[in-house]
Amino acid sequence: MESRIIVEGLPFRPYITREQIKSKIRVIADQLRNELHGSKPLFLCVLNGAFVFAADLLRAIGLNDCKIQFVKYSSYEGTQSTGNVKQILGLNEDVEGKDLIIIEDIVDTGLTAEKMVADLKTKNPRSIRFVTLLHKPENAKNNFKPDYVAFTIPSKFIIGYGLDLDGKARNLEDIYIAEEE
Ligand code: 5GP
Repeated sequence: MESRIIVEGLPFRPYITREQIKSKIRVIADQLRNELHGSKPLFLCVLNGAFVFAADLLRAIGLNDCKIQFVKYSSYEGTQSTGNVKQILGLNEDVEGKDLIIIEDIVDTGLTAEKMVADLKTKNPRSIRFVTLLHKPENAKNNFKPDYVAFTIPSKFIIGYGLDLDGKARNLEDIYIAEEE
């Protein structure tokens, strides 16, 4: 693993190695495989950050009869009186009666996650599970609890393994944490 790196002028230090990630993924994948046995689940990979985690997790789960969709939670200024409107984009599949598994990169305030689960519930799936690579419980602004968390981390900025800084660093194989100046 590389040591200290600079991204966009900011220093980061190695925090979670690819080996640690791999072994946590194995544990979560085993659990999900057992729970979803006999189901035809629909996995929702939340873009952009979760693409690396989802790719590794889904291959570790190894279910034959499952589908994967790539969704994005976009926010745009609407003309409605409500102001900011958020929408799930990319969900082309009917989710009614399905076992859904949302795959996220990080739950920070929990606001995005809570809204996404609430929106999906209105579409009457059979079940919803929420998996996240990282969780920053210190920053929580609600009571949202992910069902599966690979790593609980402090309230610091993280990059690598799908997570970016200004679009950069997503391709790093390990996870890095912002260094104190
Ligand atoms: P929240 O839980 O606050 O609604 O939103 C979580 C989103 O904030 C994540 O999907 C991610 O885009 C962004 N985010 C939060 N913390 C970090 C971090 O430490 N690093 C990166 N790269 N993105 C973060």
